[in-house]
Amino acid sequence: MTRYFDPHVHMYSRTTDDYEKMSIAGIEVVVQPSFWLGSPRTSVGTFIDYWEHMISFEPKRAIEYGIQHYTCISVNPKESIQRPLAFDAMEAMIEGKFLDRERVVGLGEIGYNLINDLEEEIFVEQLNFCKKQDLLAMIHLPHNNKPEAIKKMKTIFDTGKYNYNKILIDHNTEETIKETLDLGVWAGLSVYPVTKLNPKRVINIINQYGSDRVMVNSAADWGVSDPLSVPLTARDMRINSCKSKDIEKITFLNAYEFYRQSKRFDWKP
Ligand SMILES: [Zn+2]
Repeated sequence: MTRYFDPHVHMYSRTTDDYEKMSIAGIEVVVQPSFWLGSPRTSVGTFIDYWEHMISFEPKRAIEYGIQHYTCISVNPKESIQRPLAFDAMEAMIEGKFLDRERVVGLGEIGYNLINDLEEEIFVEQLNFCKKQDLLAMIHLPHNNKPEAIKKMKTIFDTGKYNYNKILIDHNTEETIKETLDLGVWAGLSVYPVTKLNPKRVINIINQYGSDRVMVNSAADWGVSDPLSVPLTARDMRINSCKSKDIEKITFLNAYEFYRQSKRFDWKP
């Protein structure tokens, strides 16, 4: 039976029509990480309301279409340069025990956007919290200058004794996939309808680097994106005679193996 897992999709910005299409296409599980809502935050309360919405409302919306919905909570990279707001939000996230809530399977997205010290400060704080609490960390590579971001992350990891099995670095391309896999962490590939990665480039990456620890996602949000990217990639892989084991691994199994490490990921296929 063909089933899919989209480990990175911002359903907050999508309609129930999308849930309907995803469900028909065979997507059975999604993880929705915290993202930038499209305009700057003005208070800690907007973070709290957003996290609460993802924890309480989205799983109900998803299950009506037979889709299991899990969440990653964070102060995301684009929001991490505001002071003191970023620190206040992080404190609210920890004090409010959002990471202990049902179906919250990790901390993410965290990482870099512009790649600067302000972002790095919040990134490292959240990474250290993951280490202390033994939580999964979901890391966002910036749209520009990905190799520079990987280089900086490597320096951070080298000093921190982090559990690489509990780290996922997302939005990889041909420029970063080798470095990411060499680190020993899990690697995400985001497939978009235009620009960035398409299924053909994913196939080339899998042919070159294999399917271990790699997972495809749609990263669908407000912008030009497609919540069906995972099944579409699987379809194109079938057309191109890719091995069915590779297809299963990158469109379902690897995401499952990564996220099932969280004790709050309670779904079993
Ligand atoms: Zn995202």
